[in-house]
Amino acid sequence: IKRDDVRNIAIIAHVDHGKTTLVDELLKQSGVFRSNQAVQERVMDSNDIERERGITILSKNTAINYDGIKINIIDTPGHADFGGEVERVLKMVNGVVLVVDAYEGAMPQTKFVLRKALELDLPVIVCINKIDRPEARPTEVIDEILELFMDLDASDEQLDCPFVFASAKSGVSCLDLNETPVDMKPLFETIINYIPAPEGDPEADTQVLISTIDFNEYVGRIGVGKVDNGNIKVNQDVVLVNAHDENKNSKVKITKLYEFEGLKKVEVNEASVGAIVAIAGIAEIHIGDTICSPTNPVAIPFQKISEPTIAMHFLVNDSPLAGQEGKFVTSRHLRDRLFRELNTDVSLRVEETDTTESYKVSGRGELHLSVLIENMRREGYEFAVSKAEVLYHTDEHGKKLEPMERAFIDVPEEFSGSVIEKLSTRKGELQNMSTASGGYTRLEFLIPARGLIGYRGEFMTDTKGNGIINTSFEGYGPYKGDIQYRKQGSLIAFESGETITYGLFNAQERGTLFIGAGEKVYSGMIVGANAKAEDLEVNVCKRKQLTNTRSSGADDSLRLTTPRTLSLEQALEYIDTDELLEVTPNNLRIRKKILD
Ligand code: GDP
Repeated sequence: IKRDDVRNIAIIAHVDHGKTTLVDELLKQSGVFRSNQAVQERVMDSNDIERERGITILSKNTAINYDGIKINIIDTPGHADFGGEVERVLKMVNGVVLVVDAYEGAMPQTKFVLRKALELDLPVIVCINKIDRPEARPTEVIDEILELFMDLDASDEQLDCPFVFASAKSGVSCLDLNETPVDMKPLFETIINYIPAPEGDPEADTQVLISTIDFNEYVGRIGVGKVDNGNIKVNQDVVLVNAHDENKNSKVKITKLYEFEGLKKVEVNEASVGAIVAIAGIAEIHIGDTICSPTNPVAIPFQKISEPTIAMHFLVNDSPLAGQEGKFVTSRHLRDRLFRELNTDVSLRVEETDTTESYKVSGRGELHLSVLIENMRREGYEFAVSKAEVLYHTDEHGKKLEPMERAFIDVPEEFSGSVIEKLSTRKGELQNMSTASGGYTRLEFLIPARGLIGYRGEFMTDTKGNGIINTSFEGYGPYKGDIQYRKQGSLIAFESGETITYGLFNAQERGTLFIGAGEKVYSGMIVGANAKAEDLEVNVCKRKQLTNTRSSGADDSLRLTTPRTLSLEQALEYIDTDELLEVTPNNLRIRKKILD
């Protein structure tokens, strides 16, 4: 049967196109759940890092009640580095809303998620937002979106998608630009009418595929998934079937069951086919498990979680500077924090080493680990990390294999040459090159994961912040031989208030040192530095600008130290400077001798 009282959707948007504002507004105008909570907290926005990097890391759910119909909104991670997450989340929904800024138009960053949605045959509603902007150009944006759909091989049905125009900020939407928009009703109605209701057999044996894991100090691990068949009840005896290992089945009882209402989880006694539920009280619940009736325990096929391909050591910070700011960290603190992360991040691995001062942390790529590092830094943890290294395998003949990534890159045309040159040096093979909309060139590379280490920062610099890079794990392949990096380094200057502070970014030689005054400076904020082989040009940036810049990755040899102020002279000692060319408030240019 169809659950006509339910719709399960995901919202896809390029960062800043208004997803959060839109969800807030839908919550406000939906009424029913509102009585028991105020809409103050911006749901989909709890993680600062997501905003800065322009990606969504964790999936968070919201539910809205409109006209007796429950609309579950599942947030989608916007980045490919966290293997399989996007597919898993999209499998819970029956359609997506693509939010696009009426001025900026189609941006490369949402393409990755949109591509997955189209591949999964999901219907798409295009919501052109910010129509109130004076420079809005909604009609042109429609054409751009249709072009994007065609680029991504959308089906005829998908191409026939509805367009809704909105100003999330003013809380209005319309289907026709000649109408005067009054409220969100047109968008609500389009969702209800265009996105199919979930279907399933309520009489069948229970099947709930666990798609994400949440963690809460009080109730422990929480599995979130859609009821695919049958229903689920409190006190029901069920079997947890592992999708990859039939022997890992276990009998458990459902003790705590929730559905989403507004921004909250509310306890329910029972949920039926089509519902998105959260289940607490099962310590051993994992992503990919199917909760089944004991009489017929059949797992639902499931997107495999990618293995880690990259590792770093997290070290207790023994630097003399440690402890000046932030929390002091003992090896116990570090250990507890890292192991806690495993509760919610299935692609991460944490191992003890022969010293309690150091933990080996493996993940799905450099970005994955650098997001964890930044999160921990923000929580006040002080620690150092080693250089990232890839995890090699060997084949049956003992030959060395290395992880390979497929990199999808969109860059303004004028930068494509330098990107191709850099990635070729890093053993990348150009597989495809095509013209994309808006003067962009799309490049597709097959490249050793090793070659991408430290590249994101350079990429942002090389493309002046306009490039987009998404990578997906391709598999293990034969070792491609040594990469000859060019030596380079650059100095980053940060301006905080009146003080200009300097930090050193030295990609290949001695690690990164960031020094901030007044404010903390975090690694991964490398922008404005133009690290050429000989002539180093550095722009002085306000920290605000830095944090607004998207997706600069951690560098090759990330090393975090306690923030400290250095004079320019002191800072320069960290770099082999031959000549200081120019220091102005906006520009700092240094000529550096290349050491051979
Ligand atoms: P998200 O990154 O997609 O979640 O974007 P936000 O919802 O945080 O919005 C980004 C910025 O755009 C904020 O400053 C919003 O106030 C603004 N914004 C959102 N919707 C609209 C709109 O309809 N019109 C205008 N002019 N600004 C908007």
